[in-house]
Amino acid sequence: MPFDSLGLSPALVQAAARRGYAAPTAIQAAAIPAILQGRDVRGSAQTGSGKTAAFSLPLLQRLGADRPRGARRVRALVLVPTRELAAQVGETMHDLAQDLPERPKIVVAFGGVSINPQMMSLRGGADIVVATPGRLLDLADHNALKLDGVAMLVLDEADRLFDLGFADELGRILELLPKRRQNLLFSATFPGAIQALADGMLQDPAVVDV
Ligand code: AMP
Repeated sequence: MPFDSLGLSPALVQAAARRGYAAPTAIQAAAIPAILQGRDVRGSAQTGSGKTAAFSLPLLQRLGADRPRGARRVRALVLVPTRELAAQVGETMHDLAQDLPERPKIVVAFGGVSINPQMMSLRGGADIVVATPGRLLDLADHNALKLDGVAMLVLDEADRLFDLGFADELGRILELLPKRRQNLLFSATFPGAIQALADGMLQDPAVVDV
């Protein structure tokens, strides 16, 4: 199946080609059309499956399609367990967004480094925030960002988020988000706690198992 049959805009198909993606991976072929339709997704996928592009490409398309006028508000929030993953997801998204007519502002935030530069980069708002949960809450506590405009939430490597002890932070973050939003949850494994999270958070999800 070619990339251009998934419903992605030419700019995003071109970005995938530029990165050398000849054909969609299994998770991309299954998840991208569902996400473009606005559905919640429960994705079971290992690192290396291509899941970053599986959520990033349709996320970029949906944000571009309904861009509000005026000040930038955070419309997509991607929560990841580690700083390495935050940096990697941020870079991939940035690169995939390069050819879009209106490039979104993407801010990456993680703990273990000074919060000040991250607060500075959030001045003037951001369209997409990729963050680890603890630092995201710190930023919210500092009023560095508002989360009441988040229309898309991605939990990446949800099992590792729990393993690293982020369950409480996650619960607090969910309370700061609008109830009506699109949720994408990816995890390599679905032990009881992650399944319970998925059951509580996802509405009629497209289940993608690869
Ligand atoms: P991920 O599972 O998102 O960490 O991606 C694993 C690796 O696969 C990354 O180096 C991606 O750049 C690469 N990749 C993602 N999608 C494709 C694709 N459709 N074809 C070839 N490589 C890909």
